[in-house]
Amino acid sequence: MKDINAQEYNELLSSEAPVVIDFHATWCGPCKVLSPILEELSSEVDGVEFVKLDVDQHPEIAGANGVMGVPTVVMLKDGELRPVIYCHCSQCLKTHGHFAAYTSAVKEQIEWQNQETLCWFDSSEKARRGFCGKCGASLFYELKGGAGLSITAGSIESPTGLHAAGHIYFENHSDYYEVLDQLPKFRENSSEDFPD
Ligand SMILES: [Zn+2]
Repeated sequence: MKDINAQEYNELLSSEAPVVIDFHATWCGPCKVLSPILEELSSEVDGVEFVKLDVDQHPEIAGANGVMGVPTVVMLKDGELRPVIYCHCSQCLKTHGHFAAYTSAVKEQIEWQNQETLCWFDSSEKARRGFCGKCGASLFYELKGGAGLSITAGSIESPTGLHAAGHIYFENHSDYYEVLDQLPKFRENSSEDFPD
């Protein structure tokens, strides 16, 4: 199984065939157990591409896939949405009036039907936020030039079929709420960062 870089990852995003990514780290013992099992599986399963990705080399790709620890195996399939991640960063708190819940899709796989009322706000040098210019609903977040588009989970009609994977930028959470679920909580947005 090949260890892929960011460019190869971006190419795989437009792959017709499903792609299985083994998110691993060099220091992770369980990763070394899992790797040969996936290796064997990859030779037995046709029509699926198996690759590896080092989370320390590419934390941004791990984050975009909701990877909160290693090893994590993610399957990319045309049209699938990422599990929901709750963001407690101060920008999200102010934009949403509370912490944010985002899923994410691969930009190249999105088919737009109408963007008439869609407005964008440059929230930083690196990112912008999409909202409805008519009703003000907060809809999207994206890193400029990134492969993914974050979509507010609440704006998707239920049943969404989604589940939540964890909390990021938890150190920024406000003092008026408590988070009592058992999901992983990250100080920032990194797969090595376990404050709990
Ligand atoms: Zn945020």
